[in-house]
Amino acid sequence: MWKTIKQWLSAAADVAMPRVCPVCGKALDNDEQWLCRKCLAALPRTRYEETDFNTMEQHFAGKVPIERATAYFFYEKGSPYASILHDIKYHSLPKMGYWLASRAVTEMAGSHFFEGIDVVTAVPLHRSKLAHRGYNQSEYLARGIADRLGIPYVEALNAVKPHSTQTHKGALERWQNIQGNYALKNDACHLSGKHILLVDDVITTGSTLTVCASLLKSIPGATISLFTLAAARLE
Ligand SMILES: [Zn+2]
Repeated sequence: MWKTIKQWLSAAADVAMPRVCPVCGKALDNDEQWLCRKCLAALPRTRYEETDFNTMEQHFAGKVPIERATAYFFYEKGSPYASILHDIKYHSLPKMGYWLASRAVTEMAGSHFFEGIDVVTAVPLHRSKLAHRGYNQSEYLARGIADRLGIPYVEALNAVKPHSTQTHKGALERWQNIQGNYALKNDACHLSGKHILLVDDVITTGSTLTVCASLLKSIPGATISLFTLAAARLE
């Protein structure tokens, strides 16, 4: 009886506001969550975690010592999969990010990527942006991973300055600009000796992750690994 009512309510809600796949626009059926089966199967996975010293890890070599790095899928501007990132960031769908990050953990189980990780943290959002958006999409990703692994989500970093637009800046200028944007939280020393997974939604130049990972690396004995939901094709 209750199940019937629940199904009826869910169907009625779908009529009022149909749930659609953000990638192809198809209406989702009852068994599909967030993405349709076809788009989920065709998600352009990086599978970085299956390779030693993969492209993403090479990207940080000589910049900041990290243990491991991976991203769930590739995205390119204008690709239908880029709409996932847009939706979790701007369309109030951070729960889709939580779900995808949790899925990534399950799919990557065979790679041992998450083995030995003690805590999960996220690249923080400045309070002015947080007030505007209402949530930090990277925190949802980090919580999705932490909950699936059964380990704590911790806040280790502060965003001390709002991001200014980076688009027209050169690499050096961009780097100098980002460096002062983040700081370690005062109580981050309780993470000494821990293996910390730092999570962000996307990696493009990697400069934000480099700055944040360097700060975490200054915690005595800390080991840092990186996870992003999506990655631009890194050279
Ligand atoms: Zn689809």
